[in-house]
Amino acid sequence: MKKWFSLGLLCLSAQALANLHLAPPDFDVTSGRAVFVDFKRAHYEINFDHSRRQATVSTRIEFEQTKAGMPLFDLVPAISNVNLNGEKVKVSQVRFPGNVSRSRMMEKTLAPGNHVVEMTNIIKENVEFDDDYRFVKAAFWIRDLKDRLFMEQYIPSNFEFDQYQMTFDVKFTGTGIENQDIYTNGVMKKIAANHYQINFPEYFTVSCPYFHVTSKNGLRRADFTYTSINGREFPVTVYSPWASRTRKFKAETIRVMAELEADYGPWAHPSFVAYGTMPGLGGMEHSGATVTSFNALDHEMLHSYFAKGVMPANGNSGWIDEAIASWRDNGYKRLTTPGFSGSNIGAQSIYKRNTDDRSYKLGSAFMAYLDYRLQDMGGLKAFLRGYFAAYKHTVITTEHFKNNLEFWSGINFEEDFNRYILNNNIAQPKAVDVNHFHPTITKKALRSIL
Ligand SMILES: [Zn+2]
Repeated sequence: MKKWFSLGLLCLSAQALANLHLAPPDFDVTSGRAVFVDFKRAHYEINFDHSRRQATVSTRIEFEQTKAGMPLFDLVPAISNVNLNGEKVKVSQVRFPGNVSRSRMMEKTLAPGNHVVEMTNIIKENVEFDDDYRFVKAAFWIRDLKDRLFMEQYIPSNFEFDQYQMTFDVKFTGTGIENQDIYTNGVMKKIAANHYQINFPEYFTVSCPYFHVTSKNGLRRADFTYTSINGREFPVTVYSPWASRTRKFKAETIRVMAELEADYGPWAHPSFVAYGTMPGLGGMEHSGATVTSFNALDHEMLHSYFAKGVMPANGNSGWIDEAIASWRDNGYKRLTTPGFSGSNIGAQSIYKRNTDDRSYKLGSAFMAYLDYRLQDMGGLKAFLRGYFAAYKHTVITTEHFKNNLEFWSGINFEEDFNRYILNNNIAQPKAVDVNHFHPTITKKALRSIL
């Protein structure tokens, strides 16, 4: 009988959602000390104003910091009216050590404790106002292979290590007609005409929410209930521009859901939402949601287990979920050796926020090798099933994955990880061919599917 994560589970409740121990180290800037903080709650008033053809966001964030310093957060578009604990404050842009990424910093040294910041911004990406028919098309699409493409593209956010309760208060103003549909993985409530509130689960990180606004009845949807292997019924929505594609997505969703639940246990999200886009666009995973072409639907659904069920803390942990998803895409191969000399896909700057795009090929080969090493214990899938059960809705790192793998199997994987995943001492294998599940997509292509 294998030991089952008892050490980790003991710590689980104590660390519940307070993830600062997973943040990168604080660092010095010319004006003082920049510190990572723990978001508790973020409330976003998102107003799609037809008269000004503008989408504005008013944000209120409650956060805690444990060390004195100037709080870090991120937002790509310009920020205005920043009010910190009731006082105006300047926000500057800072570079992370080694220049691996950038973020925002409130220019005020705060004492440890709880604080509140408010600010406003205009959404620039993926929003379009239609003049003729008075509707908005907008979406908070994300990407994880490049820097700063999570929620920070649209709304003030923390970094991937943090989990916090997000609420969207969505209004459509400057129009007398109700002409919108909203697709989301949060729980949505209609407050009044053209006014909705969406609450997301508190385990969500900055790469989890799914939010797509489009014209009323503009896309063909199918809503149905799926009964999980544990008996829980949860709502599923699939939608696309064509009824025939929506039907195809519904059938494939049911097929893949059954496969994944059989392998890794019950679906762990309140619902599932899938937007079926055109072939060739690949897909992107959100938490219990995806925007995807048909051929990548299964890959993206797997990510609701690994990526958005068990979630990476940073760019150095992102390889794990692409490795698992690609291992499945490649037919769960078993390899006696990974077949490459080594890589640092999990050992780059601790400040790096995006996933290494070599993770598909190299990571998948590494998983196939782990499967070989675990063959007497039911293979890698047996481990992953237990790992998911123990750590769903938590944020993990490469070290956590490795430690649990060793604890479960009793095998020492130190050398293997140091060589194949954490190896900065060799000439690195080049970035490989683009993965067709997550191809590079132009801004124009992303707008075309709004
Ligand atoms: Zn993927």
